[in-house]
Amino acid sequence: EEKLDYVKSKIGEYPNFPKEGILFRDIFGALTDAKACVYLRDLLVEHIRQSVPEAEIIVGLDSRGFLFNLLLATELGVGCAPIRKKGKLPGEVVSVEYELEYSSDTFEIQRNAIAPGQKVVVVDDLLATGGSLAAAAELVRKVGGVVVESLVVLELVGLEGRKRLDGKVHSLIKY
Ligand code: 5GP
Repeated sequence: EEKLDYVKSKIGEYPNFPKEGILFRDIFGALTDAKACVYLRDLLVEHIRQSVPEAEIIVGLDSRGFLFNLLLATELGVGCAPIRKKGKLPGEVVSVEYELEYSSDTFEIQRNAIAPGQKVVVVDDLLATGGSLAAAAELVRKVGGVVVESLVVLELVGLEGRKRLDGKVHSLIKY
């Protein structure tokens, strides 16, 4: 609780960013604080050890998810992989197009990133509408992996993003 409250106190809030009417929650406010970095790591690692110890690989979403996938992988003794925006990954990739508010985007994963049946935790900084994590889960399934949990630091509960996700969803801090 103490660790969680401390991290929460360091999350930034920026009204009208990146556009009018949006309240942007800024994870970097916590990462610039040495103690909050360590607490955030501890909280995420403890959660996975307790709730999804079967995790075999941590997949991070472009780009703030990358702050956590390598960190968690090294702590847990497993590997990690990226899901990136279209055109960034070499070799054979699998793609999924997903809807944004006024447009669409494409996520990709390397076909050989995940072994068949491998148990995957997908991580990102924030869950809003769930579109990004739903697309990520679809990609993981397409390359033969099994998503055992979608894990985020922050969740905007009112947007009901969890409803779009199958299986376990966990957030450290809810707004
Ligand atoms: P969703 O696909 O769930 O609607 O949106 C989640 C994605 O948008 C995440 O990759 C997240 O980084 C980004 N995002 C949306 N709103 C915010 C916000 O307020 N703060 C941060 N840090 N990221 C946001």
